[in-house]
Amino acid sequence: MRGLFVGRFQPFHNGHMKAVEWILGRCDELVIAVGSTQRSFNRMEVFTAGERIEMMRRALKARKLDGRCIIIPVSDINNNALWVSHVNSLCPEFDVVFSNNPLVKLLFSEVGKKVVEVPLFDRKSCDGSHIRKLMLSGAKWKELVPKEVAEFIIQKRGIERLRSISKEDKYGVVA
Ligand code: NAP
Repeated sequence: MRGLFVGRFQPFHNGHMKAVEWILGRCDELVIAVGSTQRSFNRMEVFTAGERIEMMRRALKARKLDGRCIIIPVSDINNNALWVSHVNSLCPEFDVVFSNNPLVKLLFSEVGKKVVEVPLFDRKSCDGSHIRKLMLSGAKWKELVPKEVAEFIIQKRGIERLRSISKEDKYGVVA
């Protein structure tokens, strides 16, 4: 059986990693759709699609799970009613969708796909916006993401990027 897991992964953190492991305990293979690929270099969406794919691949490889996961970039489209067809056109076939996102669940249920909720692992700290805040403030964040992801973010100067794009320009606008 093959599953689908959709997320923005900004960044790919321990909660996402545990979710992938949980799903792979129930499926043979997993398609991981990296959503909102057109967005990067802003406070909410810091990393490019390529960077998110790279950080996920490194974390999966270190856990010998890369052979069971297929990572597919999926851009947003301006029409929710067509989004499932858009995902289907980009991804290999899958039998079940794993998601907690209300819109994602609704759209796949409408076309008769089986949808399963994923337990939220350590949601208090494993939360993308919380982790980005910690990065900005200089507080500890590395232990909340897989080691390979932390190394990659440091290598890409991700913290410096987040700080730069969080500064206001002369019009008081933040990226
Ligand atoms: P999501 O993956 O369902 O995640 C929702 C929230 O739950 C996020 O805050 C996420 O974490 C968190 N989360 C999910 N699983 C978790 C787990 N097991 N443990 C801990 N936290 C977990 O929603 P999403 O990230 O917004 O991804 C949905 C994607 O589909 C987006 O890219 C969206 O744009 C796309 N989409 C597009 C369209 C369209 O183009 N018309 C329509 C529907 C959906 P973090 O915040 O920590 O990452």
